[in-house]
Order: sequence, then C-alpha cells, then structure tokens
Amino acid sequence: MKIQSLSVSVPNKKCINNCAFCVSKMHSEDYKNQMDGNLPFYDLYYEDYVKRLEFARDNGCNTVVLTGNTEPQQNREFLKLFGIINKSLEKPFRKIDIQTTGVLLDENYLRFLRNHVGVSTVALSVSDLFDSKNNGEINGTPKSLLVDIPKLCSLIKKYDFTLRLSLNLNALYNGRSAACVFKKAKELGANQITFRELYISGTDTPQDEWIKKNLISREFLTELNSYILEKGKFLRVLEYGHKLYSVDEMSVVVDDDCMSKRGKEELRYLILRPDCKLYSSWDDKGSLVF
Ligand code: SF4
Repeated sequence: MKIQSLSVSVPNKKCINNCAFCVSKMHSEDYKNQMDGNLPFYDLYYEDYVKRLEFARDNGCNTVVLTGNTEPQQNREFLKLFGIINKSLEKPFRKIDIQTTGVLLDENYLRFLRNHVGVSTVALSVSDLFDSKNNGEINGTPKSLLVDIPKLCSLIKKYDFTLRLSLNLNALYNGRSAACVFKKAKELGANQITFRELYISGTDTPQDEWIKKNLISREFLTELNSYILEKGKFLRVLEYGHKLYSVDEMSVVVDDDCMSKRGKEELRYLILRPDCKLYSSWDDKGSLVF
C-alpha cells in the first residue's frame, strides 16, 4: 500500500469563517477530540496518534496536509504539539502543507508555522483573487479579521514558503480571462495554482444553493483549459488523475473532484481525525482504516 498524503484534521469547535460553499457544513462532524490533555486517557490517545502518523510514514507517505473542518491556525496549541510530535518521529514528515483562508496569519504566526511546525507550503484558499473585501464576504470572515490578500502573499513569500493559490471558482470569475487570472497570481508571487470547482453535495443544503446560484461558467472553464494547453507544459499526472502543467513558471492543476471521490482503488489518501483514528474518506465513518 502506498499512501501519498495524510490530511491531519486539526481539532477546533467552530470555524472562524463561514464560507458560502463550505463542504464541512454539508456534513455533520461528530468525531471526538481525544487530543485533549485534560481528558483521562490522554496518554493512551497520544500514543495512538503517534502510531497513526508512523503508519502513514511506514507506508511511504511523506506529505502532511494540516486542514480540517475549521481553520487549522485557530488551534495554535495543537499545531505546537504536532510540531513536537513530528520532530520526535523516527522519520518526521518532510513536506507539510497548511490549507487556510489566511485569517489570523500575521508575520509572527507565519514564522511559527515555518520554524516550529515545519510548514513548507501555504495553500491559500481564495474566493476572489482580485478583491480582498469580496473575498472576505464570500468566506464569511469576520470584518475585523479581513485578509488583505496582497499583504499576506507578500509575507508568505518573505518567509519563502511555497505559495499555492487555491482558487474557489465562482461566478465572480465569469467574464474574466484566464490570462488576467494568471497575471494576478504571478504578481502575488504564486508558485502553484489549483483551480477548484466547488463541490455540490446534491442534498439541497444552503451551500449547494449558493454554489448553484454562483456557478462558474462553462465558458470560463473552457477558456481556462485551452489557455493551459496552449501556454503550459505538461508535467505529470497526479494521483487522482488530474494533469499537472507548468504555466509561466507556476504549476497548475484544475481540480473538479475536491472531495476525492475518484481513484480509490488503492489507499492513496488518508485522514487523521482528532479521535486519533485514520479514515480514507471525509464524509464516511465507514471508511475507518484503524
Ligand atoms: S474556512 Fe474551511 S471550514 Fe471554515 S467555513 Fe470556510 S470552507 Fe468551511
């Protein structure tokens, strides 16, 4: 079995944002947080947690993605602990990504992520690359914590993280050309871009409704794909069948399967939940590995 990436779901009670398209809000979340030092069996669970990390490492996994149903940086204590545990592993994870909208990230926090936690890639989830205010509104970020996208990107580059812009495609991009999106991403210092088609669960949630009303147009997607084919250089096929291209010295993926519903013939992707157990699917408790 070869596991290519391990998503670590960082425990938090409630997300500080309220993204209009939030996948996490489409599913109920009831995994107990056993990584809580105040609980009676913490020592046992701590060992369980380490065991799961080691299991992923034993199976060839070298990449951790810090993520979850909230913003990982809401729980600095947990990230601190993760950094310590990872360093204590016989073979620590070398590549650590954090998935975030950037809320709460200032220079001090970025330095902590880089130096203590060992994060190497910041995957910045952006709903409007051209307007931080619109972006904050779609992401439901509290007004007092609005993310200034250019400022944050410049800090991310100051600490020499790999900057991946994860663009949540919605109607705001309709009418824009692919060329202007790439130009903007380049200006912001992006090394990588993921174009994410938003996930519709098919269960008539408010998030489904929002996505349907704010759908990215077929025209944009067609133009985007043609642009990538014309200007880009094919690099390789990724684990879920997406093709990776290099465009203007940025690596680019168009992701139309952000819930990873395809390509499950082999276990390539695992999730470590705060209950200290490994799962292979975000929305199915039956996917428990151990
Ligand atoms: S940041 Fe993530 S978890 Fe939080 S509301 Fe947005 S999509 Fe949901």
